[in-house]
Amino acid sequence: MLILMSLNTPRKDIDAVKNKIVSLNCTPHEIPGKSKLAIGITGPTDQLKKEDFIMLTSVEEVVRVTKKYKLVSRMMQSDDTIINFDGFKFGGESLQIIAGPCSVESKDQIFEIAGSLKESGIKFMRAGAFKPRSSPYAFQGLKEKGLEYLQEVKKEFGMVIVTELLNFVSLPAILETADIIQIGARNMQNYALLEEVGKHNKPILLKRGMAATVEELLLSAEYIFSSGNKNVILCERGIRTFETSTRNTLDLNAVPVIKKHSHLPIIVDPSHGIGIWDKVPAMSLAAVAAGADGLILEVHNRPDEALSDGFQSITPQALKELLEKIKQMAPIVNKKLVLNEDK
Ligand code: PEP
Ligand code: MN
Repeated sequence: MLILMSLNTPRKDIDAVKNKIVSLNCTPHEIPGKSKLAIGITGPTDQLKKEDFIMLTSVEEVVRVTKKYKLVSRMMQSDDTIINFDGFKFGGESLQIIAGPCSVESKDQIFEIAGSLKESGIKFMRAGAFKPRSSPYAFQGLKEKGLEYLQEVKKEFGMVIVTELLNFVSLPAILETADIIQIGARNMQNYALLEEVGKHNKPILLKRGMAATVEELLLSAEYIFSSGNKNVILCERGIRTFETSTRNTLDLNAVPVIKKHSHLPIIVDPSHGIGIWDKVPAMSLAAVAAGADGLILEVHNRPDEALSDGFQSITPQALKELLEKIKQMAPIVNKKLVLNEDK
């Protein structure tokens, strides 16, 4: 349920509404908007009646939120959530690019790639130190050593670091290094982990599970949001279908659907989505056309030698060419590609 009040409502009236919500065993969430102040209600809202609130002073409207997810829905907040890193924003009119290798492999590798990315104006760098691999015998990441290299990259190149959190044990180390914590497809439904990252304020990149519906993705975001962390970026990374000619089926339908139903930024990962490097640029442009707020791309200086996901990684040169096309395409969908001019 959602209570709408005017922006200049006196504090005592807002508090009266919030106290009423608490007295009915529910939780109030103040959501200031551009034209109205909204107070979202979560908890056992089925038991609430509109009449519980409509008579309270300064209440203009009481709306029932019909979706299963509440706080992340457009009904609760009509304005886009914008996540801002020193002027580099996710959401609204910005189009952001996160790029980097699947895994941190060595200091030389990560420094060489960071250097090329910086030359292209990339501000957000991805690289996994802890890798979730289908085979226990495959490269599992450099772990703590990998995080150390990422910290050095951050100092040397001023990159904003995106790296994956696999489990509770590595949370303190990830919190020290990551500027954006990636929750991978395999952990999208690890609800205890979602609640834990929800207790921190660090932005979360939440990737869609490979067999998860859009509604399930939004409900996972709701776990993080309702635990207190409102800095969530969603990511479409392809789903499992009957199709075998590509690694996954990139569900670009999810982008306009999520844009309609949620205020959270949604970015696309065409690398995992299609899984074949020479088709990544086409799907990147398709994602931009669909209205994505950004892309996360796997980029490797020597894809054929990569320790994970080399086959879907593009080179820094291919990235440069792709960025030129994205720059031209973005205005058609009212977006602006934001690159770091300070190279
Ligand atoms: C990755 O980004 O390298 C990764 C493992 O992604 P996903 O969780 O989408 O498979
Ligand atoms: Mn990968």
